[in-house]
Amino acid sequence: MPQKIPNLLDLDHSQLESLLESVGQPRYRADQIWQWLYKQLATEVQDMTSLPKALRAKLEEVAVLHTPRVLATQESLTGETRKDLLEMRDGEQVEVVLMRYIQRRTVCVSTQVGCAIGCRFCATGQMGFQRNLSSGEIVAQVLHFERALRTQGRRVTNIVFMGMGEPLLNYNNTLAAITRLMDPAGLQIGQRRMTLSTVGISTAIRRFAKEKLQVNLAVSLHAATDELRSELMPVDQRHDLDALFAAVQEYINRTNREVTFEWALIDGVNDTPEQAAALAARIAGMLVHVNLIPLNPTDGYPGQPSSEEHVEAFTDILDRRHIPYTLRLRRGGDIQAGCGQLRARIHRQST
Ligand code: SAH
Ligand code: SF4
Repeated sequence: MPQKIPNLLDLDHSQLESLLESVGQPRYRADQIWQWLYKQLATEVQDMTSLPKALRAKLEEVAVLHTPRVLATQESLTGETRKDLLEMRDGEQVEVVLMRYIQRRTVCVSTQVGCAIGCRFCATGQMGFQRNLSSGEIVAQVLHFERALRTQGRRVTNIVFMGMGEPLLNYNNTLAAITRLMDPAGLQIGQRRMTLSTVGISTAIRRFAKEKLQVNLAVSLHAATDELRSELMPVDQRHDLDALFAAVQEYINRTNREVTFEWALIDGVNDTPEQAAALAARIAGMLVHVNLIPLNPTDGYPGQPSSEEHVEAFTDILDRRHIPYTLRLRRGGDIQAGCGQLRARIHRQST
């Protein structure tokens, strides 16, 4: 949908300079506005009190500063995890999650409204695809929690692109958001403190490998045979496991970074000895780490988290093959922190 007036958060620094030039303003005004956006965390143009009133009025004519409204909030019982449903400029809704650890405060951002891939077990996949988020809409999610944390003298330290949507199918906006979040004149979040999670679009992984970034890559594997994987995750056939593993190896070669494979353990489905053995065979010798996560049950999929016995049998096989893995505990399970689940719940209530 055309939105003629740009959102300031969608502009990179040179685009902001051009906008100011177009209204007869010197370039240094762009630096000032940049500071208001990303250092002082202004929520509206009128907050930018170091700008002359006339300039603020002009800016409001040619651009908007869109600060998403919070439509719903869920806090986990322990208070460690908070999830907010944010409203975008056109009324679309996306989820953003803050996870507080002892040393880190991690924001989990969405990159699309819905998702076109349609993984069976995923609440976002079950709702279909609406649209891509702009770079500013991605960045705004981080600013949202940065503001909340700043009142407690804290900052966002890490970002994971693991919310709603497939970041590599919204490549340019995701890359622009990463660049803006890294900016030393802005939030200055280190590349190594960001993790992009993908369903495994092999062509886009290869492209991302060439960006010369140090961003961590997580690949949602969940199955080690094409047969089971295409049942669970209907990614295009062009991205079969051979193509995926070749692309991941290229990412490792070019970045020298360890890649994470995500594996949500689904009882009786992908927690079998056959899958464990196939996984071990696939990744032996690669610079990778497996993240085993218990499935978060969703309404649209009958699967359940694996039983303890299945988890033990699965991890025994990985142990014997010396495959490095971490067995995650459920985090934020009581607030449905799985991606897409808050939006799905609010929609159910209102329909
Ligand atoms: N589209 C990207 C990023 C968003 S999903 C991707 O698929 O990687 C973030 C992670 O949550 C992925 O690893 C995804 O497989 C996982 N996930 C989705 N639904 C889940 C569920 N119900 N339980 C556990 N993990 C889930
Ligand atoms: Fe999309 Fe990721 Fe959910 Fe699959 S798991 S439907 S790729 S958001």
